[in-house]
Amino acid sequence: MTENHHASYPSLFVSHGAPTLALEDCAVTRFLTSLGQKLGKPKAILIISAHFDQRRPTIACGERLETIYDFGGFPAALYEVRYPARGSSEIAVRVRELLLEAGIASDMDETRGMDHGCWVPLVHMYPNADVPIVQLSISMGQSPQWHFELGQALSGLREEGVLIIGSGSASHNLRELMMGQHDEEEPMVPWVRDFTDWVTEKIETGDYQSVLSVMTDAPEGKRNHPTMDHIHPLFFALGAGGSAVEDGARGKRIHASTTYGVLAMDIYAFGNEEDISSTA
Ligand code: ZN
Repeated sequence: MTENHHASYPSLFVSHGAPTLALEDCAVTRFLTSLGQKLGKPKAILIISAHFDQRRPTIACGERLETIYDFGGFPAALYEVRYPARGSSEIAVRVRELLLEAGIASDMDETRGMDHGCWVPLVHMYPNADVPIVQLSISMGQSPQWHFELGQALSGLREEGVLIIGSGSASHNLRELMMGQHDEEEPMVPWVRDFTDWVTEKIETGDYQSVLSVMTDAPEGKRNHPTMDHIHPLFFALGAGGSAVEDGARGKRIHASTTYGVLAMDIYAFGNEEDISSTA
């Protein structure tokens, strides 16, 4: 894959699904593979994952990133997946700098490896693991608006050749997933469809205020996200896409599918028209 010289990259929100998605060949994994090919190789990837929660924003700044198996009870083959991408202290320092300029203090963590929220989508997007990765934490104690502003503070990185990714899930009710006896191929259940379609409509019409109020305003918000961990990366990606709709920033759902009927695998791109068209 050749290095791609974009004027700027879009920011993305990806649904990473169950960890076993790393080993699967299905609609969303095929989409992720083609998305990586279309975007080409960025200088680095900054990724915020639902599975790295810290009180203060924390940047994984190590050069060696261990593959973390932060789950239990999955097939042995999953524990053999390695994603040997390097870190980038240069980009990590740049992230810290930009956050500071926005008045946001952050911590650096040299030992933190890569959780499955990072490596599951990346094994499909960049299978050669040849793009440097910097991971940033979410903060469960903070609001959607706070994550949006965190993204805004880092939006400029997209013009410096960095691909920004929020990795979570468009819907994420594990209790429904475990107890509901859902079949992997089952079509999307109505309460997930109503929610994800509502979110998409607000994103695509530029109604970001409604997106940030999703837990109170969207149909079945609490049922789709009993906790906020898997939707905070969406608010982050939204902010990182350039929040000023009047400046031409917009958002688009670029993929929609489902696994087990209840786990929506939707993917969004944010940025200007040209950034978004680079995903198509
Ligand atoms: Zn997850």
